[in-house]
Amino acid sequence: MLRRFLVDELRMIKRQVRKFAEHEVIFQEGDDGDCAYLIETGRVLVYLVKDGQEIPLKVLGRGEIFGEMSMIDHSPRSASCKALTEVRLIGVTQKQLLDRIKSADPIVRLLMRALSDRLRLQNDTIRGKALPTNQLHAEAIEQERREAIDRIELENRISFGLENNEFVPYYQPIYNLHTQKIQGCEALIRWLGPDGKITSPSVFIDILEESSLILDVGQMMIEKCFAHLSAIKRETGLPNDFFVSINISGRQFGDPHFIEHLEQTRALTGHHAHHVKLEVTERIMTEGPLAISTLQKCRSLGYQIAIDDFGTGFSSLQYLASMPLSDLKVDRSFVNQMTLHDKSLSMVKTLIYMANALNLNLIAEGIETQEQLLLLQNLGVTQGQGYLFCKAVPFDEFLALFAGRDNQKKAA
Ligand code: C2E
Ligand code: CA
Ligand code: CA
Repeated sequence: MLRRFLVDELRMIKRQVRKFAEHEVIFQEGDDGDCAYLIETGRVLVYLVKDGQEIPLKVLGRGEIFGEMSMIDHSPRSASCKALTEVRLIGVTQKQLLDRIKSADPIVRLLMRALSDRLRLQNDTIRGKALPTNQLHAEAIEQERREAIDRIELENRISFGLENNEFVPYYQPIYNLHTQKIQGCEALIRWLGPDGKITSPSVFIDILEESSLILDVGQMMIEKCFAHLSAIKRETGLPNDFFVSINISGRQFGDPHFIEHLEQTRALTGHHAHHVKLEVTERIMTEGPLAISTLQKCRSLGYQIAIDDFGTGFSSLQYLASMPLSDLKVDRSFVNQMTLHDKSLSMVKTLIYMANALNLNLIAEGIETQEQLLLLQNLGVTQGQGYLFCKAVPFDEFLALFAGRDNQKKAA
């Protein structure tokens, strides 16, 4: 699996083809490692030298990688390699490889390190003596180990938290900017630890999204949101235009059971689909055809679809027009900067123009100041959310606000 990862990474890297003749030595054990290789054509022998004798270890062929170990552990070559036939190799520099390894999951990095340590030890045993390793990087290695341990600990705490129902939706009201009445809300996940500590999704959402845990957590959020719609209906009545926005990750849209579970949950509570707005980011476009067709089915079932953080991804008018959207959410960064920088203001104006042209509702995110609110009102934006009005609050607090029992704006 690790080799697969490295080979895939290597294929993406700028190609540097090098040729070696039959029997030519590519590198020798003890040499400094400055490059890893992917075999494009030909065969390569990996061998050790003991008492002047070659000990063959492995013959590698097309598509296989070698020379990566000293890139990973910054130590001299642990074995020698020579061409068995004429070979064409794609060379990858240490920097090119390390940039990619650095961006890999810390646990994958630790696994790589463990595998390279094990191989080195194996080679030393066969050779009957250890080659020197580079101690300069001991601190970096220790740092990697710590990161991996922290990550595993966090993953374990998350699994435990999920079993204990510690993940809950908070709700941030979305206002009509002219009447200042609550029109809907966005469900934002929070992790309530047993010690009462509230952890924000920035700490754990990527971890959930990298694993299939996001499917269970996402379904839990959907179930709670529908249950809370029922509670609103009971307590205050549910206006026809009230909506709850639920953030849905690309991975959920790629799940073949997503619609079935969504619809089962909805049917159990009897709510109309238009009370639910599914928020997706522009990354959905990279999730493949299943995700897009799921999006289309959701829209045809009556769910609203908002594109979140709009303007920060690779939006193009062409794809926007082809997606079954109901809403654009202007990213907080533009709202934040629009009273300070002309470029951000132009961007907001352009997004408003685009939304109008495509007949989409526009929601401004992250409104923090009266000045921003005034400007948005003047630009004709009708819906928005932000700390100026209210941060995300537990459901009971949201219900109290919605019921008008607490009409005060809740500053963050
Ligand atoms: P998002 O969907 O863009 O949500 C808006 C974020 O901006 C929220 O952060 C919200 O608390 C914050 N925010 C709202 N108004 C203001 C403001 O005026 N100023 C500032 N500085 N921030 C404001 P939060 O709750 O930490 O969520 C972060 C991200 O985590 C969300 O960004 C969303 O991408 C993700 N997320 C949250 N809940 C879920 C969930 O249930 N499922 C999935 N897949 N992702 C979620
Ligand atoms: Ca959102
Ligand atoms: Ca957003």
